[in-house]
Amino acid sequence: MAEMICRTCGRVYALDDPRWRCQCGSILDIAFAPAFNPGMVRHRPHSMWRYREAIPITHDTSIVSFDEGFTPLLEVRINGYPVLVKQDHLFPSGSYKDRGASVLISKVKELGISHVVEDSSGNAGCAVAAYCARARIRCEIHVPQDTSPGKLAQIRLYGASLKKVPGSREDTARSALQAAAESYYASHSWNPFFFQGTKTFAYEVCEQLGWKCPDTVILPAGNGTLVLGAHTGFSELRDSGIIGRIPKIIAVQAENCAPLYRAFHEGLGEIPPVEKADTLAEGIAIADPVRGSQILEAVKTSGGSFLTVSDTQVMHSLTALGKEGFCIEPTSAATTAGIETYLESMSSNELIVSVFTGHGLKSAEKIEKVVAQC
Ligand SMILES: *Cc1c(COP(=O)(O)O)cnc(C)c1O
Ligand SMILES: [Zn+2]
Repeated sequence: MAEMICRTCGRVYALDDPRWRCQCGSILDIAFAPAFNPGMVRHRPHSMWRYREAIPITHDTSIVSFDEGFTPLLEVRINGYPVLVKQDHLFPSGSYKDRGASVLISKVKELGISHVVEDSSGNAGCAVAAYCARARIRCEIHVPQDTSPGKLAQIRLYGASLKKVPGSREDTARSALQAAAESYYASHSWNPFFFQGTKTFAYEVCEQLGWKCPDTVILPAGNGTLVLGAHTGFSELRDSGIIGRIPKIIAVQAENCAPLYRAFHEGLGEIPPVEKADTLAEGIAIADPVRGSQILEAVKTSGGSFLTVSDTQVMHSLTALGKEGFCIEPTSAATTAGIETYLESMSSNELIVSVFTGHGLKSAEKIEKVVAQC
């Protein structure tokens, strides 16, 4: 039986309890040991919902989906080294956030909730708005005033109500939290159901490798939705004996906003607040990640570590991949720049898996500036 558990006080809640955080104010996780085995999926459609038994939604009729997922795992040469890269920029709303939104909005539908609030620097807002449109659920997306115009247009196109909040990314989070007091907070950082979607990344990678585990996965880290989802997925597959161990997780942050990197290398368990400067990697510029200590623990238990990349590295990686035929967001190029940095220190051959997180057409105006400079 799956249930929600508080990481701080240990309180337990049923999955049909419409709450997104504990009474004590802390974050909730979902404790779940799925009854899943690879034999189940052989004849199913190629979407992330093929791992149905591993996704804690009770009724099939609650599922809100565009048949998304099972993205190609494509070999891409990065500085000459073959890396297997999940093409998650090909999701319906243009980023891997659809993995989380599909499961979260399915849960919202199952709970009978008709109005949700979310805050985002862009892609999570787009994903939640798209799935709410599909399910005919009203949603209100709070965004920082300086969000990419393309993402704002996309959110409005889906029919969401858009609230532009002056000030920092953290001011936007506060504004959404306030609004959520009167509705349900469909937050990609707080809500534990989002991570039940992002964990399908790990299931897909293992299946695409013939139910084997890579040596290393290199992922972006802002709020850690992919790092934590992947860690959960790989751990579940290990616990059920499908793979023998979990891969080492290398988490990439932007040099101009790297609270997790700092805490990890200074051996801290909590995340000290950082001042953030502008970065091309807007999607991972999170100064105060709500699941910070959980992200540190996940990376540590995987045997991995954190690294940072500069905007110059991001620009170079973005343009290098463009010349290979890939159009990805500058934020996604932070991860690929991180691969380059990782490869420099790698001593023996490893099977490396990474991800293109978002489509470049989302930030055309930023890419325009980069190509003008390079
Ligand atoms: C959300 C996002 C990330 C980082 O994810 P976190 O959950 O904040 O760690 C990376 N790339 C893109 C394009 C994103 O939208
Ligand atoms: Zn609690």
